[in-house]
Amino acid sequence: MSECIFCMVAKGEIPSRTVYEDDSVLAFDDIAPQAPVHTLIIPKTHYADLSDDVPAALLGSLFSVAAQVAVIKGIDKSGYRVIVNSGPDACQTVHHLHVHVIGGRPMSHGMVNFADRP
Ligand code: 5GP
Ligand code: ZN
Repeated sequence: MSECIFCMVAKGEIPSRTVYEDDSVLAFDDIAPQAPVHTLIIPKTHYADLSDDVPAALLGSLFSVAAQVAVIKGIDKSGYRVIVNSGPDACQTVHHLHVHVIGGRPMSHGMVNFADRP
């Protein structure tokens, strides 16, 4: 999957601002942040989306790291949104599973507008 941009980020072939890294997971800042904090968490192994037979332990790691990212970014108390866009109707644009952590400002009530994207 060398053409996958997040596989390339995971291998260091595309530069990114690392927030957290371990053997299986990488967290890095989004290139087009929708809020003061907008970090993406990816498995280092390629999975297209949430329906790609992702091992439960890896899903646990992704969400555990989301909480750690909130602490690292200092938004664990103020609050944050954790979002996974999976598939066409969710407007997933990068087809390597990723978890968004978005915060640092109040967001509007409800879930329909992803991070209040304009
Ligand atoms: P999706 O819409 O698929 O849920 O989110 C994809 C996210 O990846 C978008 O928020 C977009 O800004 C981000 N993104 C796309 N390409 C790159 C890149 O090369 N580097 C980084 N850091 N983020 C990217
Ligand atoms: Zn990939």
